[in-house]
Amino acid sequence: MQPAAPICAEPASAACAVGVFRVFMPSVFSDLLEEARLSVRSIADYGDHLLHPTVRLGVTGLSRAGKTVFITALVHSLLRGGRLPIFESLTSGRIASARLEPQPDDTIPRFDYENHLKALIDERRWPASTVDISELRLVIDYQRESGAMRTLTLDIVDYPGEWLLDLPLLEKSYEQWSAESLALSRQGSRQALARQWHAHLATLDPATRADEQQALAAAKLFTDYLKACRDERFALSLLPPGRFLLPGNLAGSPALTFAPLELPEDKDAPGGSLWALMRRRYDSYRSAVVRPFFRDHFARLDRQIVMVDALAAFNAGPDALHDLEAALGTILDCFRTGRRTVLSSLLRPRIDRILFAATKADNLHHVNHDRLEAVVQRMVRDAAERAQFTGAKIDVVALAAVRATREASVRHGRDELPSIVGVPAKGETSGGEAFDGETEVATFPGDLPADPEKLFENPEAFRGLASANAEGADYRFLRFRPPKLERKDGREPALPHIRLDRALQFLIGDRLQ
Ligand code: GDP
Repeated sequence: MQPAAPICAEPASAACAVGVFRVFMPSVFSDLLEEARLSVRSIADYGDHLLHPTVRLGVTGLSRAGKTVFITALVHSLLRGGRLPIFESLTSGRIASARLEPQPDDTIPRFDYENHLKALIDERRWPASTVDISELRLVIDYQRESGAMRTLTLDIVDYPGEWLLDLPLLEKSYEQWSAESLALSRQGSRQALARQWHAHLATLDPATRADEQQALAAAKLFTDYLKACRDERFALSLLPPGRFLLPGNLAGSPALTFAPLELPEDKDAPGGSLWALMRRRYDSYRSAVVRPFFRDHFARLDRQIVMVDALAAFNAGPDALHDLEAALGTILDCFRTGRRTVLSSLLRPRIDRILFAATKADNLHHVNHDRLEAVVQRMVRDAAERAQFTGAKIDVVALAAVRATREASVRHGRDELPSIVGVPAKGETSGGEAFDGETEVATFPGDLPADPEKLFENPEAFRGLASANAEGADYRFLRFRPPKLERKDGREPALPHIRLDRALQFLIGDRLQ
């Protein structure tokens, strides 16, 4: 059993005043130390960037949002070239060459570009998704608009969005986090998913002696609840702590063996209690997991793309959409938090461009792409206004990094329906029909409303979308296989996409002028 530490992180009562002093001083000190470390690194990065212009691009998004496919397509389009009309430096012929080079950080896994590309092109299957951080360095030789030759280094850092959504925990005590998590778990569709965990919670007395088995059971039931929320039927987004869903090498460790408790507001944790144990582990999670991620990765990014699977949220219904909206707001607030690290922002503006990309737009007919953008724009509107105070440029794009469908007009009775055609993955089903992974099908995915407010006002509009061709049997969008592509004379084919060039132009276009 872990020894429980009777600490008091909040100046809540006179009874824990001594504890406050003891914990508060080191915390201020460690914050200063952190600032100092960040600024030393900023100076080093800054000097390095003057000599070798570099963009450190963060690619994030929740599990299965489309990060891996996006990075593979982005790198391939720069290495090989492709049809990217809006990406000006490539179209105008100013990019002379691009190549992969060894990445700068030796302790981060390399993004497995070659195998991901092989899966897409040769095996016609989607590559394995992101579960951890990874990195890839791409070096681009280009001609400036003035004519001079230059080199831009692009460091791509792929990391789970679940980790990003942990950053607000740095500013929350265990008691605050506990109360917020419990309140959220009692809302909408979460309530039913949390039933078992809530039943166990009702048997716990936070003030009793800490018991490892109780902590283990609470953490397991809480994790099960978070996993159920992530299930595609519910597709909820706001589910910290992120490592509970993607534990990596921390699986089973005490830093992941805690859960919220129902706590009295007017008391403090008795020494050796379950409450004290949970609080200590929560604090360990923050200091051993969240803070290093902030310091070593997040604080060093220059640009950020956030991949958003808005279609999965439409499929799941209004709760999922509102949850996604809250998650996107939290993400944007994280960027504000990032810029509050005073010294580093004085030395060099850090993240100065943020792109929200609504992925898998090839599941919709092109008349809906602008509408999809408008919905995501509406979701980030308020938070974007807050973030813009920091000077970061924010944009939204609906894209398909790898387009798996083509468009067709399909006659349905008297109507011509704007449809999409693709090969559903083996095992996919729709309206009782199972697909073999080889046969093309045409589906009418339905239309998003021209006015995004309509989606927010009328919850039924969510469901109408994917069910348009499924007669109410199945609301999901179909999962299509990647497109059939062939090498010509041994040369890799270009990957078809939707608006990948717009994303590239926004993310690095200005650095290639
Ligand atoms: P990650 O977890 O964010 O790395 O997500 P992935 O990039 O692995 O994508 C998850 C899944 O989404 C893939 O296996 C595909 O089924 C689907 N997907 C991703 N990008 C696209 C796209 O551009 N078009 C289509 N049709 N599906 C995509």
